[in-house]
Amino acid sequence: MGSERQVASTKIVMGNWKMNGSAAKVATVLTALPSFPPNSDITICLPFPYLAQGVQLLDDKHCVVGAQNLSEFADGAYTGDVSASMLADIGCKTVLIGHSERRTFFAESDEVVAAKLTRAKHARLRCVVCVGETLIERDSGLAQQRIQQQLNAVLKQLDSDAQALAFCVAYEPVWAIGSGRAATEAQIAEMHQFIKNIIGTKFPVLYGGSVTDDNAANIMGIANVDGVLVGGASLDASKFAAICNEGLGK
Ligand code: PEP
Repeated sequence: MGSERQVASTKIVMGNWKMNGSAAKVATVLTALPSFPPNSDITICLPFPYLAQGVQLLDDKHCVVGAQNLSEFADGAYTGDVSASMLADIGCKTVLIGHSERRTFFAESDEVVAAKLTRAKHARLRCVVCVGETLIERDSGLAQQRIQQQLNAVLKQLDSDAQALAFCVAYEPVWAIGSGRAATEAQIAEMHQFIKNIIGTKFPVLYGGSVTDDNAANIMGIANVDGVLVGGASLDASKFAAICNEGLGK
């Protein structure tokens, strides 16, 4: 593991399985995960059909289950959608909102992301709002402008009574997701500072985009990085456990 940098305090580690896996894979990977210490802040976001299975398997491991999406509507005639209250009802604790794959492939606008945040908040789910710029936006010098725009849509909801741990931002540059090319230390530090300046320091900001067991410790050691959102590497129990342990400073 390339952990050259020491992680100072417990970090948030979230896995995102995307549309991968099967009941058998969920059972194999989650059973292979160790039991983490009680102060851990670890979540695995599974596909909808496996959420209840995940809740059961992780019951005593100090690792909670999250969803990757939710409906912008409360309930009713929305065939195929899954509501925030349904997620909470089955023991799901967290939900990703506005992942770039949802924004890109399902045309989720900033307004839809904001509506989903409202639903998740009312159901008392921890909300992880994902933001990130495309490569074209970065190369055109528009990265910060895009992030500001995405955050503006949800800022109104960060009222003074918003619980610090009930809301996180995940900064995930679109070009770094699944590409094997994580953002550089300087790019991460600059954008996390920018985001903290906008949302305030009490809300955690995670980094996502090609995080592995090799680079996780370094990334979590960067200023203003409160944790990581891990896609591909979260499908492998030993890699994900290694990243979680880096987050615990082990
Ligand atoms: C993600 O799915 O949010 C992600 C960051 O994926 P990966 O770690 O595979 O780049």
